[in-house]
Amino acid sequence: MIAGPLVLGVGGVVGAGLLRERRWWRGLHLGRFAAKLGNRMTTEFVSSPESALPTAPEKAPRIRDLSLCPCKSRLAYGLCCGPYHAGKAKPETAEQLMRSRYSAYFFGKIDYLVDTTHPDKKAPGMREAIQDLADQARWSFLTVLSASQGQKGDRTGKVEFVAEFYVDGVRREHREKSRFRRCRGNWKYVDDKG
Ligand SMILES: [Zn+2]
Repeated sequence: MIAGPLVLGVGGVVGAGLLRERRWWRGLHLGRFAAKLGNRMTTEFVSSPESALPTAPEKAPRIRDLSLCPCKSRLAYGLCCGPYHAGKAKPETAEQLMRSRYSAYFFGKIDYLVDTTHPDKKAPGMREAIQDLADQARWSFLTVLSASQGQKGDRTGKVEFVAEFYVDGVRREHREKSRFRRCRGNWKYVDDKG
């Protein structure tokens, strides 16, 4: 993943702009190249907040849908977390919700992160805290270590994972055992006390 070196090499607004341009150019370029080979799902993203995405973008959503999902499922974004983010589908398992929340951090989808937090756990300042983290972190990898319950017929579930990210060019890891609970039929994130 190239997030580290790129993040290390650029900074500030100008740097972020360069990073974005490189990312989209790279995605477009590799997308065309891969199409010739008959495999169009070979590009990967470099983390960047949704609010800072480029202004260009008739083609952007399509490229994003064809690219590998940031949650490292090896599925295309359009077949993985994309429909959840777009409100076209709901995660059927706790792990799917966990992965889609990681991808939401990746793309800076703050509303999704707030909406998928259990109502009992929503606190004043939560949105700002999520926004701060999404703005500062450049997410580079997700490893799901284990999942228990959290299936279609369950009411609760736990997912243990490690998320790798960079803040100011410094690599960090966050390990968590998340707890999830259904609310009105839909999975919601409760806390990290699993
Ligand atoms: Zn995904």
